[in-house]
Amino acid sequence: MVKIKYNFNKMNGALKEAGAELNFKYKFNNPNFYKNSIISQFNEDGMLTVNNEIEINFFGGLNFYKNLIVLASFNEFKKKKNEEILIHFSKCEDYELNYEKKTHELNLHLPTSNIFQDDIKNKNFQKHKPCEKCLKIINWNNINKAEDWSRRVILEQFSVKNFYEHILPFQKELIANIHKNDFLVNLPLNFARINEVIKAQKKWTCEVCKINTSGMKQLLHIEIKNILKDNINSSNYNSICTSCLKHRHNEISLNKNEIEFIKQFKPKT
Ligand SMILES: [Zn+2]
Ligand SMILES: [Zn+2]
Repeated sequence: MVKIKYNFNKMNGALKEAGAELNFKYKFNNPNFYKNSIISQFNEDGMLTVNNEIEINFFGGLNFYKNLIVLASFNEFKKKKNEEILIHFSKCEDYELNYEKKTHELNLHLPTSNIFQDDIKNKNFQKHKPCEKCLKIINWNNINKAEDWSRRVILEQFSVKNFYEHILPFQKELIANIHKNDFLVNLPLNFARINEVIKAQKKWTCEVCKINTSGMKQLLHIEIKNILKDNINSSNYNSICTSCLKHRHNEISLNKNEIEFIKQFKPKT
């Protein structure tokens, strides 16, 4: 437990020093999570080098390692300093081919890793590039429907931080173990896109307590009434904040900043 905190603080400190903004923190209240010490498997740069076969789950078009969302690269760190690292979010054909042939070259990255902090000045950090095929699978920012020119803009504007903001609540649900496995494996591939659209349609507001989470987007979850592939309609989803979800599932974790935000902005009844 002490070790995890230590690693996190070190990473946090490094980010602060670089002037990077960090809105989310690795502070899980789930005791099982601490017991497993999963995060301590990752190094200070939020990277885990995989040496043998591991289980990577593929839920809603995204890669998860032990319920943590992970981004994958293949031995790109042996590349020259100025070359970009190609990052996979999903199970695209290139990722699958690489995974079959060179599992031992696989690196997993936490979305909070230093390499995704855009304003890092340190020369030692390599620039990353999102895999276009993966982005098409999850249909980030409606990239599949975009015209050629705007597709390039979407690719350039992609930020791991924004992507993670939408998915972090789902990661909390996974860690709290509130979903059945058949629900998880049947989630549509564009689940990240569904999160983007529905939360915007719900105006970032919890339908139970009416808190507006725009100031801390990681606090809004969506609940699916029916699984409808390729049909994103807000009437098929409920929005619920982490605090209201915790009333139903006590295993859901809330960190100190999140609790403070809820105290401050939750409408009084
Ligand atoms: Zn890919
Ligand atoms: Zn609420």
